[in-house]
Amino acid sequence: ESQDRVFNFAAGPAVLPEHVLRKAQSELYNWRGSGMSVMEMSHRGKEFLSIIQKAESDLRTLLNIPDEYSVLFLQGGATTQFAAIPLNLCKPDDKVDYLVTGSWGDKAVKEAQKYSNPKVIWSGKSEKYTKIPAFEELEQSADAKYLHICANETIHGVEFKTYPNPKNGLLIADMSSNFCSKPVDVSTFGIIYAGAQKNVGPSGVTIVIIRKDLIGNAQPVTPVMLDYKIHDENKSLYNTPPCYGIYMCGLVFEDLLEQGGLVEIEKKNKRKADILYNAIDESKGFYRCPVEKSVRSLMNVPFTLEKAELEAEFVKEAAKEKMVQLKGHRSVGGMRASIYNAMPLAGVEKLVAFMKEFQAKHA
Ligand code: PLP
Repeated sequence: ESQDRVFNFAAGPAVLPEHVLRKAQSELYNWRGSGMSVMEMSHRGKEFLSIIQKAESDLRTLLNIPDEYSVLFLQGGATTQFAAIPLNLCKPDDKVDYLVTGSWGDKAVKEAQKYSNPKVIWSGKSEKYTKIPAFEELEQSADAKYLHICANETIHGVEFKTYPNPKNGLLIADMSSNFCSKPVDVSTFGIIYAGAQKNVGPSGVTIVIIRKDLIGNAQPVTPVMLDYKIHDENKSLYNTPPCYGIYMCGLVFEDLLEQGGLVEIEKKNKRKADILYNAIDESKGFYRCPVEKSVRSLMNVPFTLEKAELEAEFVKEAAKEKMVQLKGHRSVGGMRASIYNAMPLAGVEKLVAFMKEFQAKHA
């Protein structure tokens, strides 16, 4: 029942809209008169084909994806893409640039080192990943094949608001934690990739949006499962795909369209983020968000308490009021509230009210 559900501020897997879960429940053991659950269907049958085609078509509408781009539904998480990208786009000696604004970008470079010759053209590590530099001031490698960024750093709460324009025009973005949270001009990217488990579905599905001319140059050692050409030619059905996850993503895409598309979604996300950041900034230092204001994430809001010894109590007391998963990532500590698309405004309002009360009690 609704009243049993918590406000789940987890970074991913994360909250999904209750009405979407209910729709899935209503179709769980008999999908639209087929007499089967989506979990039981052949991935090559007409029922599942209709599901994956509709999911792709709705995603294309949502993000206004140009025809020159392929949409792939893959497995292995965004982490697998850290390797797949250099394997598909580079020869082992090819230079590539990475702009590192948090730990996910850092992980992406480390993986790229195995299959290409990456250069970190900027890293925010020494400033604890709280900034994004002005791109014009950075020096790119003259012959870099691409520039890689993480559009939203989930752990540090740092989000690009405008995108760099690399010399050769090939920008690649990990959008795992802000995928479908706002409109994006897909045509400015070579590849956009995202794990589904934050904004658009359960874990197990990875979405890759790739400009078609980039497909077909994989290094000979590339495992077949990482070769974009194989997945593109087979329309994501080379092997058994994560069928149920794709179905769930499809229900979420449908729901986002029904809500008015990503322009409307962004408005809701901005409103929620504003309320939460304002509460932090107006707390006179009791709460603090370390991220520079201009690049604060609409999705993941990290904050610390002036009295760090109160953090455990904050998390515990919030949980008693059914607000869970507020502990920051183990690598940075503090708190983090992830407020993805499916986090209702009421959840953010309740958190802010709780924060004020907690402050009053401990000031
Ligand atoms: N990139 C970002 C921005 C993330 O937030 C995550 C999160 O889990 C990953 C990559 C890794 O994704 P996965 O666990 O799907 O491999």
